[in-house]
Amino acid sequence: MRLYHPAAFDFSTTVPSYWEASADPLGRTTQSLDGAHTADVAVIGGGYAGLHAALQLTKAHGLKVCVLEAGDIGWGASGRNGGFCCPGSSKLSYGQMIKRFGLQETGRFHTAQREAVDFVGEFLAANGIDAERTGNGELQLAHNETAIKDLKEEQAFLRDSFGIDSTFLSREELAERGNDSDAFHAGLQSDITFGLHPLKYVRGLARAAIDAGVTVFSNSEVTDWNSETGLHTLKAGAGQVTSKTVLVASNGYTDETLPAAIGGRLLPALTRIIVTRPISDNELKAQGWTRTDPSYDTLNLLHYFRLLPDNRFMFGGRGGTDASPEGMKAIQRSLRADFDSFFPRLSHVETEYSWGGLVCMTSTRLPFAGPIDGMDNVWGAFGWHGNGVAMASYAANRLADVIAGTRQHKDALPAMMQSLPGRFVLPSLRVQYLKAAYLGYGAADRWR
Ligand SMILES: Cc1cc2nc3c(=O)[nH]c(=O)nc-3n(C[C@H](O)[C@H](O)[C@H](O)COP(=O)(O)OP(=O)(O)OC[C@H]3O[C@@H](n4cnc5c(N)ncnc54)[C@H](O)[C@@H]3O)c2cc1C
Repeated sequence: MRLYHPAAFDFSTTVPSYWEASADPLGRTTQSLDGAHTADVAVIGGGYAGLHAALQLTKAHGLKVCVLEAGDIGWGASGRNGGFCCPGSSKLSYGQMIKRFGLQETGRFHTAQREAVDFVGEFLAANGIDAERTGNGELQLAHNETAIKDLKEEQAFLRDSFGIDSTFLSREELAERGNDSDAFHAGLQSDITFGLHPLKYVRGLARAAIDAGVTVFSNSEVTDWNSETGLHTLKAGAGQVTSKTVLVASNGYTDETLPAAIGGRLLPALTRIIVTRPISDNELKAQGWTRTDPSYDTLNLLHYFRLLPDNRFMFGGRGGTDASPEGMKAIQRSLRADFDSFFPRLSHVETEYSWGGLVCMTSTRLPFAGPIDGMDNVWGAFGWHGNGVAMASYAANRLADVIAGTRQHKDALPAMMQSLPGRFVLPSLRVQYLKAAYLGYGAADRWR
């Protein structure tokens, strides 16, 4: 059971993304599951989380691991995201975290987010994966005068609480450095975050996992799960895998009955991206936008964007709640209109690619990596709140050590990521909640 139009879960389709058009093939042969197999650990989901956990379980702990992926490797969010390797895997503000968990735990979470970004950078370098790393730090852009004050407060908070320096940039300073747009009134540049080619990253990760001995089955959607006498049997297509341990790493694409213990705890949300044709240097200069730093605005319904290495503009934003092809076309039009209003001197530049996908939120507004309550040897890693390039990678790598029994859960990950998020109240209304939230946020964005 899934929450959106079936088009969002058609695992047999190729995602029509710029990443698909520009990445080298996987370069390893993967089969669909066929026949009966056994493993120490079976992993559902072949994205950053599933593959990182599988790699660590195999390489560092010598376990026999099978990954089951419903589409091609990286078919989910990992192969189609905006490529911001960044913090932000919780939707709680630091102020809210401090109230709930105290300053020390909040600091631990903040550190983990920074470590996660470094983890991906080091992983790419160590494995010779050319994922087109770009930009140096992220740029948060004030969408109006009120938001300037928010940026200044955030800068002071990061400095005073965590000793982190960031640079405040006025409207004029933004224009001088190559971030010129009348839509933005000021900016806050941090030194964390870089951009990457998400599909090159996930394919490089899959190659590393396969070469380390992980068995990866693609086009193998798990449709049935049976647990008996301490063993779990997952069925996909014409085959099955029996294992003592299962890791659920299917994030926004999770079938709510696999396992039922997860049902009602996740809230997948749509987001959409457009990518233009390559833009000439003269056209970029005319707009005054020449920097590649991953950037986003301060709207509740935020936009995220960056120049790609071949001067294409990637521009992303909210994907609405209608995942049908018609719904997606309407969102694409509104995204393009936003792009044109931010960058009017680029409004003649054609859109060449457009696609959408699902991110995953939770009722606690926190990510989760830990045991699934009420089940034996079943673990989950999900809920990255639209920012999982770094955190899904890092958390899954650490969770693998916990699953293998070489590290205590409490030492591996911040406490606030360790508890299974509760069920949403009236879970069948989750998409309606989201619709209402979008309406409320949209109104707040217009009036704030
Ligand atoms: C358009 C878009 C833009 C984004 N931009 C950014 C960004 O710029 N920066 C950032 O940090 N994050 C971004 N995200 C979020 C980020 O991509 C995710 O948080 C991250 O990829 C999650 O990785 P994952 O491995 O947990 O999940 P996924 O990559 O979604 O992998 C889950 C996999 O499970 C598979 N699956 C589901 N059900 C089954 C089943 N029953 N059997 C077998 N397999 C199954 C799916 O096919 C899928 O491939 C974006 C997401 C989208 C969609």
